[in-house]
Order: sequence, then structure tokens, then C-alpha cells
Amino acid sequence: MNEYDSNTILSELVAGGHQVVDSSSDADLILLNTCAVRGKPVEKVVTLLGELRKEKRAGRNLAVGLMGCLAQLDEGQEIAKKFEVDILIGPGAITDILPAIEALEAGNPAFASLDFKEDLATHITPAPNSLTGFLTIMRGCNHHCTYCIVPTTRGPEVSRPLESIMLEAEAMQAAGVQEIYLLGQNVNSYGLGVPGLPSFAELLRLVAQTGIPRVKFTTSHPMNFSSDIIDAIAETDNICKYIHLPVQSGSDRVLRRMAREYKRGRYLEIVREIKEKIPDVVLSTDIIVGFPGESEEDFEQTLTLYEEVQYDAAYMFMYSARPGTPSYKHFDDLPRELKSERLQRLIERQKHWSHVKNQRWLGRDLRVLVKEIASSGDYAVGHSDQNHTVLVPKNQLESLGLYDVTIETATPHTLYGVVKGYRSEAIPLLMAQ
Ligand code: SAH
Ligand code: SF4
Repeated sequence: MNEYDSNTILSELVAGGHQVVDSSSDADLILLNTCAVRGKPVEKVVTLLGELRKEKRAGRNLAVGLMGCLAQLDEGQEIAKKFEVDILIGPGAITDILPAIEALEAGNPAFASLDFKEDLATHITPAPNSLTGFLTIMRGCNHHCTYCIVPTTRGPEVSRPLESIMLEAEAMQAAGVQEIYLLGQNVNSYGLGVPGLPSFAELLRLVAQTGIPRVKFTTSHPMNFSSDIIDAIAETDNICKYIHLPVQSGSDRVLRRMAREYKRGRYLEIVREIKEKIPDVVLSTDIIVGFPGESEEDFEQTLTLYEEVQYDAAYMFMYSARPGTPSYKHFDDLPRELKSERLQRLIERQKHWSHVKNQRWLGRDLRVLVKEIASSGDYAVGHSDQNHTVLVPKNQLESLGLYDVTIETATPHTLYGVVKGYRSEAIPLLMAQ
């Protein structure tokens, strides 16, 4: 999501005649596109802003912009004031970056825009030579998970018009993009309650019909992950057999306190249906450990759910109390050592299952989109249709693109393979330097 926003900001800057420099020490303007979901990234931003303020006070002619989710929050606005930030733009107003720079150049002291602009029809041109095209289909979130700051920072759900999504998908295909990543906080809420818009399952099929080699999406909410979405994935070759389905906790008591709107039993039912209809599907999830009031028994429910689903991968987070969220206001945080100990236990199990799941690919072929050929080291890196990170010897490649790769080694987080063949549909691109 943030990567997509950063690409949009870059496109705007380039379209406005600005030049992007390789090193921040050469810049006249530094923009920080921030995340505010957990406390740690916020601490990093504060450190960086402190360093930049020091440089400005020492005489460097520099403007600094705070953008993204943190900018939208009271917390971010206080930080911006304290560190004398010149531009403050929330995630719903990133297209205001050029007017902001103009205002600064005209001598105005500081520029702020925190609106949620309604116009989601803007067509974003894919970056040249880009193999992956990020395509936002909706913005915001109508859920109210008690730990989460996203509904505050990104506002209510708005689905983009179908026509502009399809135009963007077709432009990406014409530009040689090999995979389209459909993005939204809850992609499966796309079009809900909006007359004239297709459902998410229908949209998936429409984007796949452009003939792009692969279509991925993130993130889905289990609450409305319906059978028609599972059918669309199962029945369409170029929709990737990879599903990220955040569960957050395996305990019904915790799920209720999180206001997740589903129970463990319903989640497991969805997983069963996915596994039945999509053989070899790869599943990943998000889990929060140490949510306020989580008992040892609740945590063990998360562990047993993990054993039952056997995820291929998981993003595991320690609960972070975020000012402005209901859980921050109403619940006491658990001791950090307890949260950290539980996180370690979960990571152990995740490593075990990721290793087991990755080993099932040994000796088999995966289609891999090689995106980066590093100038040092022996390997090039890519991602399989099922989203595994796959390394292949770089001397076997002449260009970036899609390859059939036979898997020879599996570690918990990476597969290693050898190139079996180059895919003719791949558009040859220059080797990265
Ligand atoms: N819309 C998506 C993702 C939201 S943010 C969803 O509903 O799943 C990405 C992940 O960050 C969440 O899935 C959650 O696991 C984690 N997260 C959000 N708020 C958090 C908090 N306060 N502390 C720790 N992790 C959090
Ligand atoms: Fe946050 Fe919940 Fe919305 Fe996801 S569904 S963005 S976790 S409030």
C-alpha cells in the first residue's frame, strides 16, 4: 500500500518536472512516506526528523515533508510541529504534493493537506521497465478492529470506478508489466453496496481477462471472503494460487475483543473450502500476539489454529498500543516480556511449518518472476506464482522476466532452484546493473 503511494508520489514529482536523486544528501526536498500501524516505525520517523532538523539548523537549505498515515494523526501533527516540517500531507491527499511544493517555492511557510479526496479515477502510469504493477482498487476501511489505526488514517472505504481500474490494468499490460497486484485494505469489500460496480470476484476475473501473466491481491478480510472469490481463483489460470488471509488470533475471546467480526470456526471453514477447491494453494496470515487480556490459554488457541491451518508464511506482530484506537483507550497493555516470549514461541512454530510447506516443492517446477539480478553475489531473486521468494543462479539468466524453475533446496523462508526454461510470453528486459 505504502509502496504504491510512494510510486504515485514519485510519478507526480516527475510529471511536475522534479528530479529524483540517488542520495538524500543531494536533495533539496526530503519526503517521508510513513506508516502508523505500529509504534516502532513512528519512533524511526522521529529519529530521522530529528537528524534532518539538526542539518537544517546547521544551515542546510532543505525542505522536509511528512506524508502518509502518521501525518493524518494528531500524534503526527505534533511531531511535524516539533520538528519544523515544511509539508504535511495525509494518505488521502498525496496528489497535493505539487501544489505543496509550489506553495513552498512561493515563500509560504508550511503546507498542510489532510483531506480524503473523493476522486479515485486518476490514472497512474506504470513506472518504466516495471515488472510488477500495483493497482489500488479501493481505499480506506469500514471495519473497526479495536487495535487498528487504519480507519482513522485512511478514512472510510471508497471503491474506484471499474473503468479506471481496467484502463490502468490495460496500460500496465501494454507497458510490459508481468504481474498486477490489486491493492486495498479489504479488497473483498470492493463494490459492496455501490450500484453498478462488480463484486471483487467479478473484478478479479475481469482483470485476469486482460491476459496479464499473473494477478495477485492483498489484503482480504475473512469476514466476507466468500465462495465466489475462491471459485474465481480456482477456475482462472492467471489468478495466483496464493491467499493472504489475516486471522490475528485463534481465540474467540480475543477475536471478540478485537472486534474481528468472525469466529475461529468460521475462519477454519473458509480455509477448508480454499484447500478443497485450490490444490497446492499457498496461505499466509497476519497474527497479533499479546493483545490486551490475552491469557496463556488464548495464546495456545492461536498455536493450535496455526497447527491446523499450517500456513506457508506468517507476518507476526507484537501488539502495539496505538493512541487513538479503542484498545489503547479501554484495555491495559500486557508486559513487554510476556508479549515477546509469546512472539518467539509463535515464530518457532511458523519456521517449522514454513519449512515443511516449502519442502513439498522440492523437485517440482514453479513459475518465477525474476525481478532483480544483483551485481554482487551469485543469485538472482524472484517470486513464484504462489509468492515464494525464489533464488536462481544469476549466470543462468539473460534478462529479467518469467522463468520455469525446478526447486532443489528449501529453507523456511526461501526456495533455491535452477532455471528450466524461459517463458515466451515474458517481455525481455535489460539486466539490472
Ligand atoms: N487491512 C488488513 C491489514 C491492516 S494493517 C487487515 O484487515 O488484515 C496490517 C497488519 O498489521 C494487521 O493485519 C495486523 O496484524 C497488524 N496490526 C494492525 N494494528 C496493529 C497493532 N496495533 N499492533 C500490532 N499489530 C497491528
Ligand atoms: Fe485495520 Fe481491521 Fe480495517 Fe484491517 S479490517 S485495516 S485490521 S480496522
